[in-house]
Amino acid sequence: MNKEILKDGEPCDHPGCLNHISHPCEGCGRIGGLSMNLEITEKLIESVPQTYGEAILQYPWLKYIKFESHEYDNRTTIENAIFLLKSADALACLYGSLLEQDI
Ligand SMILES: [Zn+2]
Repeated sequence: MNKEILKDGEPCDHPGCLNHISHPCEGCGRIGGLSMNLEITEKLIESVPQTYGEAILQYPWLKYIKFESHEYDNRTTIENAIFLLKSADALACLYGSLLEQDI
């Protein structure tokens, strides 16, 4: 399969394509379904907590985000990386809007 036509996060035909985070996928050669630089991909994946328990320890602000712990555990590492980025962004915006209010 040509990895050029696969979008980031889109699995190839290889079973468990997106779960290949310790080594490149045998099917498409990507790590975690990402087509970016191998070294950067490895760094990104290392920084994402693998379980909800690890995530809540590393990012205590997660307790202010509404989601179920099993949702985190059931997602791929890449999906959780996106989730963490979006959640941090949402919290920062909320905090900023509170600072702007006259209380
Ligand atoms: Zn693959």
